[in-house]
Amino acid sequence: EFKLSDKVRSLKPSSTIAVTGRALELQRAGVDVVSMAAGEPDFDTPEHVKEAAYAAIRAGKTRYTPVQGIPELRETICAKFERENGLTYSPEQVTVSTGGKQALFNAFFALLDPGDEVIIPAPYWVSYPEMVAFAGGVPVAVDTQPENGYDLDPAAVARAITPRTRAIVLNSPANPTGAVYGEATLRAVAELAVKHGLLIITDEMYEHIIYDAEHLSIARFAPEHTLTINGASKAYAMTGWRIGYAAGPQALIRAMNAIQGQSTSNANSVAQWAAVAAIQDSSAFIASAREQFRRRRDRIVSGLNDLGLPTPLPQGAFYVMADTSRIHASELEAARIILDDARVAVVPGTDFRAPGRVRLSYATSFENIEKALGRMGALLSVSA
Ligand code: PLP
Repeated sequence: EFKLSDKVRSLKPSSTIAVTGRALELQRAGVDVVSMAAGEPDFDTPEHVKEAAYAAIRAGKTRYTPVQGIPELRETICAKFERENGLTYSPEQVTVSTGGKQALFNAFFALLDPGDEVIIPAPYWVSYPEMVAFAGGVPVAVDTQPENGYDLDPAAVARAITPRTRAIVLNSPANPTGAVYGEATLRAVAELAVKHGLLIITDEMYEHIIYDAEHLSIARFAPEHTLTINGASKAYAMTGWRIGYAAGPQALIRAMNAIQGQSTSNANSVAQWAAVAAIQDSSAFIASAREQFRRRRDRIVSGLNDLGLPTPLPQGAFYVMADTSRIHASELEAARIILDDARVAVVPGTDFRAPGRVRLSYATSFENIEKALGRMGALLSVSA
């Protein structure tokens, strides 16, 4: 037996993937499971994006690209930041990675020394604390509450700052809470970053999946202190293409490129050309996806509340957080009961630091949402 590294042995496997795996296992055994666990849009990648990929293959764009990405894509990203976010970046301040996940990974490795602290609002996407710890850092959670839509209290962030703090992670719209931070919150956090010399790492992956609120990029308020992360996965239904990007201070981007140059070299060349088409022109797709998500969100939130599983109305992303205390079990146990007895796959809040709640994704058909509500209603002997 080979001994594995301490680093890797301290990694937690993602509970989202664990539940999806258990649901798949049941499905393979012939059980009809409704999955509400997905972390990806259920829509197909838009046709014009696929066409751009076919064209890239035909044109022989199949070789290594520059580490930081093809200039055409970085220019497209700069134009997008200008147009959609009011941010001015030069192509040298932009780097393209294999998903937003790799951009985040590169950023934490470029930034953190052992013991350096990173503030992360909770409930959080599980990969943030795992990546921070893997990079040798210490994740520091700042809890937010369902009663006020999981809004972030800048005073709580301020209290969490120590001499070892290096960065603050923001994710708005948020996975798993759907929280969207408003201008006052963003301005206050930006002020803290400037005052204490911290980096804000803002993950804006869900910016286009937003309902009754407006997305604002915190880089507007602290451009020198912000690394903006985004990608093609959620906005253009391109999870499998693996294109993410980051923009920010040049020295940090250069360090991230150095890490990428010794690991993956560059993001997939064909996918980079597809991303050019996606980012340049997808407003019709985005608008239609948003309306479908909105309809599903309204249905699932009212349905879960009718079932006696209190669920706040999220302003963005495609997840809801249901309070499972009615099931009289821990959230882990509740997720197991819902999967085994109602045949609905949901993710326990445990790893998100959301005790007493499970996450349901509504990136699935309206029919599946009705089916899931019906089954959970049967489990609880109520109807939604
Ligand atoms: N950030 C958040 C908050 C996410 O939920 C996800 C995917 O689930 C990602 C980043 C990663 O996306 P990508 O597919 O670009 O790696």
